[in-house]
Amino acid sequence: MIEIQHLKKEFNGNEVLKDISEEVDKGQVICVIGPSGAGKSTFLRCLNVLEKPTAGKVLFEGQDLTNISDPELDKLREKMGMVFQGFNLFPNMTVVNNIKIAPIKVKGLSEEEATKTAMELLKKVGLENKANVYPDSLSGGQKQRVAIVRSLAMDPEVMLFDEPTSALDPEMVDEVLNVMQELANSGMTMVVVTHEMGFAKEVADQIWFMADGYIQESGKPEDFFSHPTSDRAKEFLKKVL
Ligand code: ATP
Ligand code: MG
Repeated sequence: MIEIQHLKKEFNGNEVLKDISEEVDKGQVICVIGPSGAGKSTFLRCLNVLEKPTAGKVLFEGQDLTNISDPELDKLREKMGMVFQGFNLFPNMTVVNNIKIAPIKVKGLSEEEATKTAMELLKKVGLENKANVYPDSLSGGQKQRVAIVRSLAMDPEVMLFDEPTSALDPEMVDEVLNVMQELANSGMTMVVVTHEMGFAKEVADQIWFMADGYIQESGKPEDFFSHPTSDRAKEFLKKVL
């Protein structure tokens, strides 16, 4: 579904991504882990070209996102949902309106269709009773579940997550991870940058360990966590496990 070929990214001569080639298959859950500053967020943002790579290609369903027109890129980006650490909900709109706005404005859904989808999705994450409140009155975990639902309302083919739980109080982390796990079980293709090693172990099909601008190791979680091969990964796991 996504092919990354010799991806490089530098900022003013600072080479953050040095040469990355990997593939994401349909239905796969990839967890990207690695030390702070390794380039994980930059990498994720290159996948939907929020950050333009310095060199290399990102193919999404065969089309090179680094080399197409802006309208075509916008069209393809609709199929790639993204959830960040912060929730970025519109504070002046109710929860249900936050979820409906893009499907109506971008996809041309009717008010009725968009409401129906929004309510179904809210129900799935246990928040149907919050449809008509404003984001301010939600907890962090609830906001992040709404942010996930808002992305899902666009009916994406892949979901990109950048540390979706790292801004949350500890007691709210699980409610968000549970939603993500259910999404993974439902067959969604996901690329998740995370520090939650338990989630990575349990849910990922593949771990990509990133450090020093490269994906140093990629493999099944059971192999990676029990037999990391690189010194860099061993050192990292010693700190986080
Ligand atoms: P963390 O775990 O702390 O989120 P990360 O692995 O996501 O770290 P990135 O945020 O991708 O790391 O940053 C990698 C490097 O790229 C850092 O040295 C950072 O300063 C640099 N960088 C990222 N974005 C920019 C930018 N827009 N302009 C200049 N440098 C940047
Ligand atoms: Mg980051």
